[in-house]
Amino acid sequence: MPSLKGKTLIVTGASRGIGRALALGLAEAGANLVLSARNPERLSQAAEEVADKGAAVRYFAGDVASGETARRLVELAREIGGFYGFIHNACVLHAGPLVWEMPENLWREVVDTSLTGGYQLTRHALPDLLEAGDGVAVFVGSGAAEYNLPGIGAYAVAKAAEEHLARQVAAEAPHVASFAFRPGVVDTDMQQQARSASGGAAPQLHQIFGGYKEKGVLIPPERAAGYLIQVLQADPHRYSGKVYDWRKE
Ligand code: NAP
Repeated sequence: MPSLKGKTLIVTGASRGIGRALALGLAEAGANLVLSARNPERLSQAAEEVADKGAAVRYFAGDVASGETARRLVELAREIGGFYGFIHNACVLHAGPLVWEMPENLWREVVDTSLTGGYQLTRHALPDLLEAGDGVAVFVGSGAAEYNLPGIGAYAVAKAAEEHLARQVAAEAPHVASFAFRPGVVDTDMQQQARSASGGAAPQLHQIFGGYKEKGVLIPPERAAGYLIQVLQADPHRYSGKVYDWRKE
C-alpha cells in the first residue's frame, strides 16, 4: 500500500469545507501540504491547523485560475520536497440564475475556478510529476456534471468539463493517476449558498437543497475527505481516467 508519508500535495480551496478537511486528513496520514484559496486570513488559519498535525505546510492566497498562483503553488511544493501532485478542489457555485440571467463575470468566475484552475495546475505540475514518473492529479467533480438542474448551469458545465479534463490528463500522462472524485452531498458553505440562492431557479433550489438539510442527508466534510484519502493511500492508479464516486462503489 503506497504511503503518503513525506509526500507533498497541493490542495486548492483548502480554507474551508472539503478542502480544509482534506488538508487536515492528509496531514494526519503523513503528507506535507501546500494550500490555496483567495481569502488569506481563512487560509492561514487552515494552514496553522494543518501545521499542528505535524505536517510541513506552505500556503499561497490567490485566484487558482491564474497561472501565477499555480506556478507559486508548485514552487512551494518543490521547496518542501517530495512533490506528489495536486487535488483541485476549489470551486464557486453562484446558484440561482438561469443561464440567460447569469452575469458574464459570475459565469466566468465559476468556469475559470473549476476548469481553468485545473488547467493551470496541470500546466505547472505535470512536468515535475512526469519527471518523477509518478504522482496524482485529482479533480474534485460533482454528480451535477451529469444532470441539468435549473440554476446551477455554469457550475454543472464547469464540472463536466473538469471531469473530462481529468480523463484527458490520464490519456496524455499514463504514469500520473489522474481522476475525478465526487465527494457526495456535503455540509459546507456551498450547500448553504444553494439553500439561499436567488434568481429564476431559486424556488426549486430552495426546495431541493433545503430538503437535503432537513432530511439530514448531508455528510460532514471529514467523511467526504476520508473517501479520497483512502484511495490515495491504497491505489490511486485504480481510478486513473475515471470518475471515483464512493456512493457507486
Ligand atoms: P466551499 O465550502 O464553498 O469551499 C470552496 C473553497 O474554494 C474555499 O476554500 C474557497 O476559498 C476556494 N475558492 C473558491 N474560488 C476560488 C478561486 N478562484 N481560487 C482559489 N480558491 C477558490 O466548497 P465545498 O462544498 O467544500 O466544495 C469543495 C469541492 O467539492 C468543490 O469542487 C465542489 O464542486 C465539490 N462538491 C461539493 C459538494 C457539496 O455538497 N458540498 C457536492 C459535490 C461536489 P476562497 O473563497 O477564500 O477563495
